[in-house]
Amino acid sequence: MSKSTEPNLKFALSAYLKRHHAEICRHWFDDIEPGEVAGGVLKLVVHDQIQLRYLQRSCSEQFTEAAQSVTGRLLAIQFVGSEDQVPGKVREAPLLDSVARAQEATLPPIEQTLLSPDYTFESFVVGPCNRLAHAAALAVGDRPGRTYNPFFVHGGLGLGKTHLLQAICQRLLRQRASTSLCYISCASFADHFHDAVRAGTVTEFRGRFRSVDVLVVDDIHFLSKRDQSQEEFFHTFNALYQAGKQLVLSSDAAPSEIPDLENRLVSRFNSGLVVRMERPCFETRVNIVRTKANLHGMSMDDALASFIATRVEGNVRELEGALMKIRLLSSSTGRPVAMDLVRESLRDHVVTGVSEGQHTIQDITEAVVQFFGVRLTDLLGKRRHKSIALPRQVSMYLARRLTRLSLEEIGGYFGGRDHSTVLHAIRTVEFKRTADAHLSGGIALIERGLGVDEPATTAGDAPAQQLGRVG
Ligand code: ADP
Ligand code: MG
Repeated sequence: MSKSTEPNLKFALSAYLKRHHAEICRHWFDDIEPGEVAGGVLKLVVHDQIQLRYLQRSCSEQFTEAAQSVTGRLLAIQFVGSEDQVPGKVREAPLLDSVARAQEATLPPIEQTLLSPDYTFESFVVGPCNRLAHAAALAVGDRPGRTYNPFFVHGGLGLGKTHLLQAICQRLLRQRASTSLCYISCASFADHFHDAVRAGTVTEFRGRFRSVDVLVVDDIHFLSKRDQSQEEFFHTFNALYQAGKQLVLSSDAAPSEIPDLENRLVSRFNSGLVVRMERPCFETRVNIVRTKANLHGMSMDDALASFIATRVEGNVRELEGALMKIRLLSSSTGRPVAMDLVRESLRDHVVTGVSEGQHTIQDITEAVVQFFGVRLTDLLGKRRHKSIALPRQVSMYLARRLTRLSLEEIGGYFGGRDHSTVLHAIRTVEFKRTADAHLSGGIALIERGLGVDEPATTAGDAPAQQLGRVG
């Protein structure tokens, strides 16, 4: 067993990661301490438990590559918690805590959605667009079950709903490690339920979900009526609510505007605090750019931050995309992050971005009409016939993807349909796009014809969620 005493190892690892995997680097990586090398394994000590879990699940490959490259040895790496925890930080893995408790009760643990150490209250920029949501989230994080219950936050894509939900979770876990908390996406909840039905373990499933102190479900608009999981969620909700447990939910639309949501759930969701998050204004965007640049270890002066916030007006994800491009251009060319470099990368951003509004709805409908061989008047008319339904849905989907039009505006264009019809169309096409190779190929062709550089992928974020933004 040899101690890794190389003073430069930490520095070398960090430099390698910045150079080759800039996208994963965060300023808190500086707190990771290389420990001993034993049996060909380099231990990397991480003091914070949420960071530890995140690194173990998301960054092992990149750190292994870095360790092997900078030492020239075939080392494996292992992220481990520190023996003497930093005061004020979580002593034991709270998530593992609840896992341990669940195991004691001979139940397998709930596979939770991974918390990102990036999504804390400290890194959340408050502005007029989200002040109320932020204040309520803080109150829920401090006094779960005793202030706003349920707490329901809704708003368009990339406006910080997931960030806020995870910030609540991290605050709860840091303040009270013993809290039994479950943070899960709605889709995972449904998957767990279906697995339990198939395996004949519904009783255990209920036992697990109904015994938590806090249940946080992201993207609840994915609850589908045709599916038993909505019924199951209703009962889970009631059981927890009646026991005084905290429920936190996010959605892309207000409860009454979620297509397919049963009335009894709408009224349950409305019984607590419902808050809408808006698009950030200019000043908030400037602050977000600064905060995000700092998180990724980029230097960013006020003039640059303002310039970026002026040029990139969309949601916060677009701002992050712009920052990512700037960082990549800077690291690949070795040039500093200055105005000329920022201008250059934002010019690309506008050219390749699919949501910058360079497509008109007329272009889109024309392309769809040609591809499907249907008539424009039918596409825009009231007819409900099957032969026109799919082309119309594809048009709505593309209009949402390629223009800045709101759901209402798109619905209005296609024969005065309401926004929930548009939302439904988008989700249908998104689903079919993953399930029907023929249709998927067709849409890709239409997109290419329209000059779209980055066709939608189904990896990562659910695009239906992105497109289903309200506003
Ligand atoms: P949503 O769940 O509403 O689609 P996310 O929470 O995933 O949006 O936010 C998208 C990205 O934007 C995340 O990286 C998040 O950290 C960032 N973001 C959104 N709002 C803010 C904010 N007010 N302050 C800091 N970052 C934000
Ligand atoms: Mg989200």
